[in-house]
Amino acid sequence: MDDRGLTQDQLELVEKVRKFRTDVIDPLEPHKREWIEDPDLRFPWEVVEEGSRRGLRTLSVPREYGGADASMLDLCLTVEELAAGDMGIAVIFDQTWKIANTIGSMATQEQKEWFYPDFVSDHRFLLSIGIVEPDHATDVFMSRHLAEMDHRTVGLNTTAILEDGHWVINGAKAMPSLASTAKLVVVLAQTEPDVPIHEGGTYFLVPTDTPGFRVGRIWDKMSQRLADNAAMVFDNCRIPQSQQLGERGRARHFPMTSGGNIEAGATTLGTARAAYEAAVAYARERIQGGRPLIEHQAIGMMLAEMAIELEAARSLIWQAASAYDRGSTRTPLQFMAKWFAVEAAVKVCMKSMEVFGGFSIMRDMPVQKYMRDCLSFLHSDGSQQSRLMLLQQRMLDPEETFFASGS
Ligand SMILES: Cc1cc2nc3c(=O)[nH]c(=O)nc-3n(C[C@H](O)[C@H](O)[C@H](O)COP(=O)(O)OP(=O)(O)OC[C@H]3O[C@@H](n4cnc5c(N)ncnc54)[C@H](O)[C@@H]3O)c2cc1C
Repeated sequence: MDDRGLTQDQLELVEKVRKFRTDVIDPLEPHKREWIEDPDLRFPWEVVEEGSRRGLRTLSVPREYGGADASMLDLCLTVEELAAGDMGIAVIFDQTWKIANTIGSMATQEQKEWFYPDFVSDHRFLLSIGIVEPDHATDVFMSRHLAEMDHRTVGLNTTAILEDGHWVINGAKAMPSLASTAKLVVVLAQTEPDVPIHEGGTYFLVPTDTPGFRVGRIWDKMSQRLADNAAMVFDNCRIPQSQQLGERGRARHFPMTSGGNIEAGATTLGTARAAYEAAVAYARERIQGGRPLIEHQAIGMMLAEMAIELEAARSLIWQAASAYDRGSTRTPLQFMAKWFAVEAAVKVCMKSMEVFGGFSIMRDMPVQKYMRDCLSFLHSDGSQQSRLMLLQQRMLDPEETFFASGS
């Protein structure tokens, strides 16, 4: 164990991911590759395949099915390193771990036998999850809160109706990550009419070659340009009942138990760390007033603040991840870690741009990309405000002991 509490295995994992970064991600020159116009040509399939060959794509899969059984802390360490190379690439891997984890935790034995073998053996097998809709976005995360506070029923527009042993899905999802590159999507649909989403939503497994499923608009984004975000369209998409994932009408349990928020925090941490390291390197070499920028107190203090922000974010992420690994899947720490890391990341990128001065906005300079990428997490994995609202919701719960004990 090192002085930060990481085990030998974790240190080796970090080393392995760093090597992957320098061997495979850096030579791709993400800051140039991201500007390729055609999304098909832009998508870094060669990185996905090589990462998969090195065991990175299937990190979260249980060993018995051929994965690495990675803990949440392992995933956070890995995604921080990947995101220091490129946030879009980090999101491709992280999204796939997160959804594989979710499937693993909700699937029946038969569904696991159906899913894992193909997923593990196919180096291009990516996953996507469609929750948010054009007309119901934050509503999905706040459904219980909205129903209790405003006595309103907020249902999804995407519906699934049971017909002759098949679910027939109709509707659309707004902008899921990897919607146009995934082979299998998890979709949230309303199965019970006239009740709020958290009482009437059910998850389904839909292979993307199912008739009635199609990819809608592929969004042209300013952030995470190496990962795709696209609309999913379900038009009388008929799937066997056996592809229902988890209990009917119990959708609320998944967003609360997934560690996705912690991984989201670790992703922004990685990119913000790259922004900090770039700023330190630049401040050492750029001479103004006869000495390197870093020797000017105003710049040096800014760099010190950036280091503190990053360290505080990392501490919270590691604490949340370790709690998750000990079985505390519903702790508010998850929301805190995501919220704090994203706020810190945006501040760090802003300061990094300050260090680079007028050059910061030039496309040749990596710092503008770091800032664009980090901004994407203000509304990814739920908005920052929705994380605060969920914490408020937990505070209102008289049975919630977290805030009283602080542990
Ligand atoms: C990079 C990226 C990746 C994404 N990946 C996925 C994915 O894989 N799968 C998926 O399903 N979705 C995905 N999303 C969608 C994402 O979850 C939503 O963008 C997010 O939930 C916010 O929804 P919205 O953007 O429509 O904002 P809205 O819900 O329209 O909210 C707009 C603003 O109003 C605030 N607001 C909304 N409702 C309330 C309220 N009741 N009270 C107070 N304030 C409120 C919000 O906090 C926000 O600031 C992704 C988004 C991004 C940017």
